[in-house]
Amino acid sequence: MKAEIITVGTELLMGQVINTNSATIARELAKLSIPTYYQQTVGDNPERMFESIQLASSRSDLIILSGGLGPTTDDITKQVLAKVVQRELVEDEEAMDKIIRFHKQSHRPMSPNNRLQALAFEGETVFKNHNGLAIGGAVETDSTIFIVLPGPPSELKMMLEKEAIPYLKEKVSNEGTFVSRYLRFFGIGESRLVTDLEQLIEEQTNPTIAPYAGMYEVVLRLTANGDTKEECEQLLDELEEKILSVEREYFYGYGEYETLLSITSELLKNSGLSIASAESLTGGLFASTLISVEGSSKYVLGSCVAYQESIKKNQLQVSQEILEKYGMVSAECAEAMAENVRTIFGSDLGISFTGIAGPSPMEGKEVGTVFVSLADGVETKTIELHLARNRNGNREYAVQYGLNELRKYLLKK
Ligand code: ATP
Ligand code: MG
Repeated sequence: MKAEIITVGTELLMGQVINTNSATIARELAKLSIPTYYQQTVGDNPERMFESIQLASSRSDLIILSGGLGPTTDDITKQVLAKVVQRELVEDEEAMDKIIRFHKQSHRPMSPNNRLQALAFEGETVFKNHNGLAIGGAVETDSTIFIVLPGPPSELKMMLEKEAIPYLKEKVSNEGTFVSRYLRFFGIGESRLVTDLEQLIEEQTNPTIAPYAGMYEVVLRLTANGDTKEECEQLLDELEEKILSVEREYFYGYGEYETLLSITSELLKNSGLSIASAESLTGGLFASTLISVEGSSKYVLGSCVAYQESIKKNQLQVSQEILEKYGMVSAECAEAMAENVRTIFGSDLGISFTGIAGPSPMEGKEVGTVFVSLADGVETKTIELHLARNRNGNREYAVQYGLNELRKYLLKK
């Protein structure tokens, strides 16, 4: 089944509203292993909408429309679709009752055009609106399934989840069961990962491998198709093993919505260890990032933003010798910062960040040179990074590398 999404609304074409519905719908379809081949956006104009639905029916077998189900004169999606598929629109009794009840309860006068929100395709599937009044639905022809959904994102999401996805699951059920697994990687770019796995990606048909770049990371979505869930899991295990035999070093976790931050925070919470940070170029961003997670007061003690040399010296007690001999941007300075913040704050772990965010070089070192140190009182481990983003990109990546070092340390414990 190949899908096409048509989002309706002049406000989308004009850039007044950002089209999030297309992404929401496409993501949900991908979970069912239904690929989206095309997306269109069309204004609230009957002729152009008619054309775009016709174009979609000529090349796609599942067409999902969103927007234009409301009561106003520019809401014409159902009417135009009815013309394309030559079906009648009728009032759905249940939806009409809800509209009448809503107006009574909220003491609002009902206008005749509110009845439009209850229109359904005669003899076809109705999708209830759990977050609003306008109903949606599905229309099937010999070759195509059409689905109409409301425009407001909160209504669209609910109708997708509660009505359209279960309906579509039923439709693809004769194609077996689908199970997806997400593998998350940090420290490797998408192009490198895809190149490493090129042959595997090309040869693989079941499970399929879909790579995509996240904010700071790369994700592989593996989707297996089989008769049972167990069979799918087995196929996924085998493929995962093949992938990790190449990329284990960069793999950090599973899950559609996990991040390096969520996984590291969970490990830190479970470890019972506390942490303090000494931050030069990151300027408190590491602590701020950890603290953005609920429950972080259990393990974050605090942070020292030691941006200037005098603060590194006076507050973090980094020795004059280190500063003179190696400079502020050095492994030695990072080590001293991590070890000292740990003792000064009385935490189990101390982590530090010192480097050059840019745009100007410093101490004869290149922009993007960053040292991250992690100290636990027994051992201090330091990594040297060479980041190649802009000033704030370098600061953010330094934080992510810090999280990754912390994660690796906690896993070993
Ligand atoms: P209503 O009953 O509210 O009129 P509707 O189904 O007729 O809903 P539209 O009139 O097309 O939908 O859009 C309603 C609102 O939903 C728009 O003002 C816009 O804020 C939002 N919206 C519509 N389409 C999208 C989209 N593709 N992505 C994000 N938001 C959207
Ligand atoms: Mg509308």
